[in-house]
Amino acid sequence: MKKPLAFLLCLLLLTGCAPKAQNVDVTEPAASGTPSESPKTVSVPTPEPTPAPYVTDDIFVVECENSINLREKSSSKSQQIGTLVTGDKVKILGYQSQRFARVQLVEGGQVGYAIAGYFKAEDYASFGLSIVKPAEKYTYEQMMADLDALAAKYPDLCTLESAGQSVQGRELQAIVIGDIKAAHHVLVQGAIHARENMCALLCTAMAERLLQKGGEAEVCFHILPMANPDGSVIQQSAQIPEAVVEVYKSDGIKGLSTATGLLYLAEWQANANGVDLNRNFDAEWDKVDTTEAASYMNYRGTAVESEPETKALVAYTDKYKFDATLSYHATGSAIYWEFGEDAAVNAASLRLAEAIKAVSAYEPIGNSGDSYGGYKDWAMLKRQIPSVTIEIGTRTAPLLEVEFSNVWFRNRDVLSAVANWVRG
Ligand SMILES: [Zn+2]
Repeated sequence: MKKPLAFLLCLLLLTGCAPKAQNVDVTEPAASGTPSESPKTVSVPTPEPTPAPYVTDDIFVVECENSINLREKSSSKSQQIGTLVTGDKVKILGYQSQRFARVQLVEGGQVGYAIAGYFKAEDYASFGLSIVKPAEKYTYEQMMADLDALAAKYPDLCTLESAGQSVQGRELQAIVIGDIKAAHHVLVQGAIHARENMCALLCTAMAERLLQKGGEAEVCFHILPMANPDGSVIQQSAQIPEAVVEVYKSDGIKGLSTATGLLYLAEWQANANGVDLNRNFDAEWDKVDTTEAASYMNYRGTAVESEPETKALVAYTDKYKFDATLSYHATGSAIYWEFGEDAAVNAASLRLAEAIKAVSAYEPIGNSGDSYGGYKDWAMLKRQIPSVTIEIGTRTAPLLEVEFSNVWFRNRDVLSAVANWVRG
């Protein structure tokens, strides 16, 4: 392994979004930059979990590069009992802990376990969405258009509110669903890491589903799908944008990234100042394992809350005094619920994580290693708000469009579960 690549892998392992067990259970070669198992994680073998209560007759189609393995149990160490290739059709019998789904082949009826992110709903109607549409690159413009369309379709149920502006002046747009005078308020924010763009799509889709249901009694949801809009625009650019040319050169010279051009942009996680916003909050910020200067990822900034996006999220949180916060990130199929020494807020966050697990089958796994300075960390440490980070997806971000089926069906009932939990 070349030295710069080894360094990049180390960096990936240090991020809050580095997956804990990222064995790619396919026969195709692993994508470059895919981290191996984190040395910081102690994995405890668990009994075969019960599938999440997800039952449907919808057909899902395999979409992969070469083939994926069908296994006897939901583990990449379990006996292989078959091989699936692109075009094979299955029914999903349930999502499992971590990254697996229990599936049944339409032809022949064989049942087994495979990584959930390779099964795409055959029919768009299965998603139950009419405004929000799955896309591999969900743009800032599309998100703003979708939020406008939702607000126009459900004027009595929601309003739009900007939490502030980004470095480049884009809106940190939230859709507020429910009575602003409700007893309870919940924040859902996504895509603070630019390359985890599918979180923005998911959050907007969750807003549509919540509106379709008429909202939740006593709970007002504030859904901010894209907490780092400049980063998303940079990450989706067709060439290196002027604003990040110097960072691009610097990352190359220092060997922080060996990727060039569009491959470099695809990995972009920071805001337009090259600050990793989820390392910029006042939560043991001095402990953040950071690069020395602006970079595509992991730079904590010159000071706590140095970035306008960070300041805006802090101010927005203080405005509504949330009962719970959900931060959506995009690698690992897990829920992080732990931070700091406050026993009460940690216990409440774990209960929140368990409530989400019941509908998503994502495993609550404590904290994300030596990770500090994140929004969820800050909300727990400085505001005592029960908070979780939910990591979607089965591969390293940016996620492919095929992942959205897995992501959607595991998360579509999360807000209802959270509303029940908040109401007690
Ligand atoms: Zn992340």
